[in-house]
Amino acid sequence: MSDLDDLYQELILDHYRTPRNQGALEPADGKAEGYNPLCGDKVSVTIKLDGEIVTDVKFEGAGCAISTASASIMSETVKGKTRQEVEQIFEKFHRLATGAAVELDEGPQLGKLEVFASVGNYPVRVKCATLAWHTLVAALANRDEVVTTE
Ligand code: ZN
Repeated sequence: MSDLDDLYQELILDHYRTPRNQGALEPADGKAEGYNPLCGDKVSVTIKLDGEIVTDVKFEGAGCAISTASASIMSETVKGKTRQEVEQIFEKFHRLATGAAVELDEGPQLGKLEVFASVGNYPVRVKCATLAWHTLVAALANRDEVVTTE
């Protein structure tokens, strides 16, 4: 198990040190900001849509390693996906991150998101891991508001 943990930790650190898709899309088809008061993580997400497909996504913000890595991996994961696929992935990822039982073989594949499986053991970290996703959902609805994790 520890080898796997090391691998997961390395992937998280890689995305923390070299975040993918950083910045802001201008103009954007949707944008939102997220704030996690428990940890102080802040993230803003901008997206481009072509019909139902998320064609581009960028994020900016300052936060802990988990929140930054999660935003980076989120941005890689959702590009090219439809709204519906994004919602399905988020639902499954949320279950995984909160420590709920998840059948990984069923439904959408989580890929790199599986690295956050262990945060379910640390309730405070769950909010760090899901912040970018809550913000993405708000951006998809183009609510342009600050979302706080509950
Ligand atoms: Zn955090």
